[in-house]
Amino acid sequence: MLAGRIHATGKVSVDNISLPSVGPGDVLVKIQASGVCHSDVHIINGMLPPPKYPVTLGHEGAGVIERTGQEVTNVKVGDRVALYYMSPCGQCLYCTTGREHICDQLVSLGLELEGTWAEYLAMSAHSMVKIPEGIPYDQAAIAGCAVVTPFHAMNVGQVKPGDTVAVYGAGGVGIHGVQLAKLFGASKIISVDINARKLEAAKQVGATDLVNAKQEDPVEAIKSLTDGRGADVAFEFIGLKLTQEQLVKSVRKGGVAVMVGISGIKFEIDANDFLFKGAQLRTTQNHTRDHLARVLNLMSTGRIDISKSISQKYKLADTLKAVESLENQKESPLRIVLYP
Ligand SMILES: [Zn+2]
Ligand SMILES: [Zn+2]
Repeated sequence: MLAGRIHATGKVSVDNISLPSVGPGDVLVKIQASGVCHSDVHIINGMLPPPKYPVTLGHEGAGVIERTGQEVTNVKVGDRVALYYMSPCGQCLYCTTGREHICDQLVSLGLELEGTWAEYLAMSAHSMVKIPEGIPYDQAAIAGCAVVTPFHAMNVGQVKPGDTVAVYGAGGVGIHGVQLAKLFGASKIISVDINARKLEAAKQVGATDLVNAKQEDPVEAIKSLTDGRGADVAFEFIGLKLTQEQLVKSVRKGGVAVMVGISGIKFEIDANDFLFKGAQLRTTQNHTRDHLARVLNLMSTGRIDISKSISQKYKLADTLKAVESLENQKESPLRIVLYP
């Protein structure tokens, strides 16, 4: 089968490899669509190196169950499934207290486990989430990261009806952050980006105010849009030192700043300013299977519409072109999907 694999930092190729073996608790999934995510770029450029090379990349996938191991009871051959990209141990302190997303033994697709940029994937049946009627495979695939990540973030930020929310980043994840902030009841949603096209896309899905950070200081802009106070809740979906520092300054007294983007570097907080504001800084990490099932249900009933989120489509054989497009930000992609 074809698989987009990383062999060393910066070295990705589409290889012909043998089909994966299926353990007693595993299923074999025929992948129908797989997302290309900024986390994949972080893995490729060495910021998040996999524990061993080579490994098949990709963690956003959906497909159809082709075979099941003899112990599998929760899904059957022919089921359409989205992949929960992690395989939690089920036994550690975190797994047994409803926090499987920070499991001590957590392994993830496209990092410790062979990923979704392939024609087939074998994985624990517990990581399969059935796709409700009416959701195409490509939307189900990107739901597993690009939509469920901001869904988890909205829960972490505890966005409430009537809140003013600031969202840094209007790319493939931030754009869904805007849409979910609306779903969670935010009355004012301030979208911040440096790309006018992405800001326009954010407006289409619910942003009430747009701030182009190339043209104005976003912290000042957010303050002036909130009577000088700052946002009730602010999110950073980019992963840059600059925007993380702006995030912290963007919340009002008692406000909540939520880090989502991965930067891999340190950033500075004016400790007194933040302390005297009585504000909170929270972080998100992954999501639970329940969150993914909820997101798919919201999509199936039309409460979340991500039909315009996929901006580029590539064949699996053209994986390198897809990666190049995301790395170079050609045509400022929202979400890129690979198809077999
Ligand atoms: Zn992702
Ligand atoms: Zn665990």
